[in-house]
Amino acid sequence: MKNSWAFLIMAAGSGQRLGGQPKQFRLLGKRPVWQWAAGAARASGIDDVILTVPPERLPPDIPSDRVTVIRGGETRSLSVRNALRGTDASWVLVHDAARPFVSPDLCRSVMSAVTECRGVIPLLPVVDAAKRIREGESVMSSVDRDGLMMTQTPQGFHRESLLDVLESSSPLVRDEAEPWLASGRELTWVLGETENFKITTEGEWSMAQKLATTGATVRTGVGFDVHPLVPDRPLILGGVSIPSPLGLDGHSDADVICHALSDAALGAAGLPDIGRLYPASDETYRGADSYELLRDVINRLRNCGWGVIWADIVLHAQIPRIGDGVEDIVNKLECLWNDGRRRINLKVKSGEGIGPVGQGEAMTCYAVVTVTPC
Ligand code: MG
Repeated sequence: MKNSWAFLIMAAGSGQRLGGQPKQFRLLGKRPVWQWAAGAARASGIDDVILTVPPERLPPDIPSDRVTVIRGGETRSLSVRNALRGTDASWVLVHDAARPFVSPDLCRSVMSAVTECRGVIPLLPVVDAAKRIREGESVMSSVDRDGLMMTQTPQGFHRESLLDVLESSSPLVRDEAEPWLASGRELTWVLGETENFKITTEGEWSMAQKLATTGATVRTGVGFDVHPLVPDRPLILGGVSIPSPLGLDGHSDADVICHALSDAALGAAGLPDIGRLYPASDETYRGADSYELLRDVINRLRNCGWGVIWADIVLHAQIPRIGDGVEDIVNKLECLWNDGRRRINLKVKSGEGIGPVGQGEAMTCYAVVTVTPC
């Protein structure tokens, strides 16, 4: 996978076909329409998210937490040019703000096929019989739909190449693929997604509302971790230091509860696991405070639009006895949210004297986390 990607969300259009507030700024569920795509971008591994907006919506109107807000131009092409100049990423995905249900998988599939001279776009075949009508005429003609495709976003390009193309083309293009093709460059495609539709009509707006409030309102993730018990290591569980002659061994502080909980939360949000986000091969994480990594995980989820509503944890440990520490661990974990709502349930099971846990050689932990859009 190439690194240095930016995700450009085009939200500078007037978008007033639905009347009132431009559709990309309407609330869909609890978030503005454009924020949904920002969440998908982050879940696909892109942190550099750029939002182009009409000049009257420049900050402080837009919360700019982890989003670079850029003034849009009079046309889409001019807005894209502004956004391309607003990042130094090597590669870009250009996306319509009014397509909130783009998936991280689609982003990744476009990203993996882009090269310096090849752009990539998602296409969906036209499945209905097609007709052509001309304004003011009552007659119509049939159109052969064979090979006819509908274009979606995100469209992926090499940033500087796209800037070259747009600077030497008409500002009145409908998407980035159009001038890219006209410049004679290579353009290829991946299969788009039906749910990645563009909200343009009232019918599409109500369909989006149904999807936002029913489809994936609750998701779950599961996490597991194991660490060996050794002498001369501190025993840290759920961010709490437990008095013990033995501690868990690992690259970080080996907090088996925070690790299982982090992986469960990341899994629920469809994000990469902690091994990929905070690799043991990275010296930065030697002796790392896993409670703080869990705090970072929760922030990552929030930035992708997910909030943890419940976590059920099973700690499998024979020695030392943890029973007295359970309340402290639960309280410490609840502090990560600090909003007075209960979210954590922790059970400790002994190893019954068998296996590595029962023999006091290791501890394991299982966690299930439930999230909803926030
Ligand atoms: Mg671990």
